[in-house]
This record gives sequence, structure tokens and C-alpha cells, in this order.
Amino acid sequence: MHHFDYRNGRLHCEDVALDTIADEVGTPVYVYSSATLRRHARVIAGAFDGMSCLIAYSVKANGNLGVLRTLAEEGCGADVVSGGELMRARRAGIPASRIVFSGVGKTRAEMRLALEEGIHQFNIESAAELAVLAEVAASTGKTAKVAVRVNPDVAAGGHPNISTGKSGDKFGVPWNEARKAYAQIAEIDGVEAVGVDVHIGSQIDDITPMRAAFEKVMGLVRELRQEGHDIQRVDLGGGLAIPYKSTDNPPPPSDYANMIREVTEGLGLEVILEPGRVIAGNAGVLVTEALFVKPGPARNFLMVDAGMNDLMRPALYQAHHDILPLRERPAGDKMRYDIVGPICESTDKFAAERDMPPIEGGDRLAIMSAGAYGAVLSSQYNARPLVPEVLVDGDRYAVIRRRPDFEEMIALESIPDWLS
Ligand SMILES: *Cc1c(COP(=O)(O)O)cnc(C)c1O
Repeated sequence: MHHFDYRNGRLHCEDVALDTIADEVGTPVYVYSSATLRRHARVIAGAFDGMSCLIAYSVKANGNLGVLRTLAEEGCGADVVSGGELMRARRAGIPASRIVFSGVGKTRAEMRLALEEGIHQFNIESAAELAVLAEVAASTGKTAKVAVRVNPDVAAGGHPNISTGKSGDKFGVPWNEARKAYAQIAEIDGVEAVGVDVHIGSQIDDITPMRAAFEKVMGLVRELRQEGHDIQRVDLGGGLAIPYKSTDNPPPPSDYANMIREVTEGLGLEVILEPGRVIAGNAGVLVTEALFVKPGPARNFLMVDAGMNDLMRPALYQAHHDILPLRERPAGDKMRYDIVGPICESTDKFAAERDMPPIEGGDRLAIMSAGAYGAVLSSQYNARPLVPEVLVDGDRYAVIRRRPDFEEMIALESIPDWLS
């Protein structure tokens, strides 16, 4: 469910015509819907009603301060994977007590920062990381509350690049070494085991592998408790799929929640969830302007002013995004286009052989479902400025990241003395 639809023939985000934003801010531009973000946060929270549950929004999906503050107001915590994300979450008003720190390669400085902030939990991915965290914590006189991220050896996820729970992936402690990690925690100062963590992938459109992974995790919780570890929490990660096409039919959050209710039944656990895409994905679009059509011998290229540096998902994951004209077109003649950006890379393609109403230079298009893993993955490749981001709330909107000018783009660079 999202709040992007045609009204009087013009594509709107809530009560604002996307054309209005494009006129003022220029293109390309990301536009996010507050109502959609809030709705998704509420649907998920509602599905877990009555359970002890922390919804730690995965900041890496979309870490804009305006987005984070919107979700903070809904009571979301945060799942962060770097010191920078931790600071973003704090700056947006998310309390440290609702922040968990995931990620395979935390630095000592990041660990120190998180300890000083007093975060809820560290998710630890290796015995080596555990030893470093224990040392950092002990040196600051603190105790880190930890969960070991286990690798349940279950395959899931919408694309090999976003599957993380199979043995052979770099993520998590191998299943048969998990109990040893907890034994290690019990032996050393500075760390205290409070939970078990798992995250098997992203864009998972079937609950079956999730259930399989979570059942394994609950078995481990029982074993660990028998061995005397005080396991109070499970962190079940993120990963729920969203519809990118009208024919996609991902499981509803209620099915997911009911499955989790079943597998955690009777264990008295606090459940932590790290949803990212399912909250932000369909809450954003990338608005781009067609530059011109370049007819080719085999196909017509529709050149647009957004590039893979602005939205990487098609290049990185061969991802599909629906693309809609901002001005509604009557059903009728279609043209077949490859919709491509201006970057000097062949992977700079948003759609191949896509049937669209005839498009001309100057027409604007919305690349749908771009709210997660969109702006966060953008770069200044080809010396293109970072795309601005706009947040809509009802009939108002605000630029929540402006487009840098050229001087700002090069502000961090300098020419060494010997060249001047
Ligand atoms: C990426 C990630 C998430 C969020 O995944 P989504 O598919 O966006 O819900 C949650 N937890 C961890 C550890 C991640 O790496």
C-alpha cells in the first residue's frame, strides 16, 4: 500500500502533484510519502500487538534524517550498521535504548561510540569480533549486551547478492559454532549474552525459509538456556519482500507476525525486528525527466536524466521498477523502450524492452518503489550531484536533502602544493 496515485490525470504523492515538486526542485529527485512510511510502521507494529517487540528500522534502507524522524515519531527504534548510521539515528531522535548495532566489521571506534551511547544490543558476527568488543568494553568499564548472529544455513532472498543466511555467505557465526561463541561470552569480561540474532536475506517473498530459520534459532535458545545462558531476546532481522510489480504477491506482515508468534510461543522472549525495505521501499519514487528518444537499429533508447549513480538497484540486482509517466496517458498505443541513463556504463539501464505510452523529451517519469536502497546507494559518479530528497506530508512538502552545487561537490578535494 502506498500513497502515489493519479488524480485528475497527474501522478500525486499524497496531496502534492509530483510535477509541482519537479518544477521547484528539478529532476532527478527522490520523493517520499510520510503517510506511507507511517502506515507501514503501524501495520507492522499492529501485527505484533500484544507481544514484547522492538521494531528497529534498518537505517541502511533509507537513512535520511527526515525519514528517520518520521519513523521515530511512530516509536520505531533503529538497526544500524555503522557509527555514522548510529549518529544519524540519534540525531533523528531515536533513543539509544532502541538501537541495535549489526554488521560484520565494526571498528573499535564504532564499538566505543555505541558503548558510550548505551545502545540496546550489539549483534556479533564472529568470535574475533567478540574478543575485540570485550576488550573495548572492558577498557571503558562497560559491559556490552550482545546477541550472536547465527548463520542458520537456510537459503532465502530475492537475489544472490541479498541472500545472507546460507553457509558460505560472509554473515553470521556458522551454525555449529554458535554454542561455542556463547561459552566464550560467559568466560570473558566486558560482554554479556542477552539474545540470539539472525537475518537471512532481503526481499524474501516466502515465509517458509524464515520459519525454518527461526525454528532453528528457537531450538538454539532452548539449548543455550539449558546451558545456563540467560537468553531474553531474539533478533529476527529484516527481509520481508515488497511488491515491485502489480503481480508480486509478498506475504502480508500479519502472516509473518503470526508465524513469529507461533515459533516464539511460550519462550517469554523480547522479539526484535529489523525491517527496512518493507517500511521504506514503496514509500518513495525517483522522478526523472526524459531527455530524448534515441532510435536504434534493434530498439529505441529512452534517455532519462537519472542514472545508475542515482538508483543502483537495476544495475546491482537486475531489479525491476515500474515506471509511470507523471501525466496519465490513455490506454492505447505502446512503444517499446530500453530506458537508460546518461552514465558511461552499459549497466546504466532502468528497464529493458519496456512497453510504455509514447514518451518525448521533456516528459517526466516516476521510477516507482525507490524508497529503499535508492538514495542511500547513490554516488557522485560521472561528477553528477547527489539527487535531492523531498518528503511529502499531506499537502505540504519539504526538501530533506538539497542538491549540492558544484562548489559543494568538490569541497572535500584539494590540489597538492607541488602541483600549484
Ligand atoms: C539489510 C539488513 C536488514 C534490512 O533488510 P530489509 O530486507 O530491508 O528488511 C536488517 N538487518 C540486517 C542485519 C541487514 O543487513
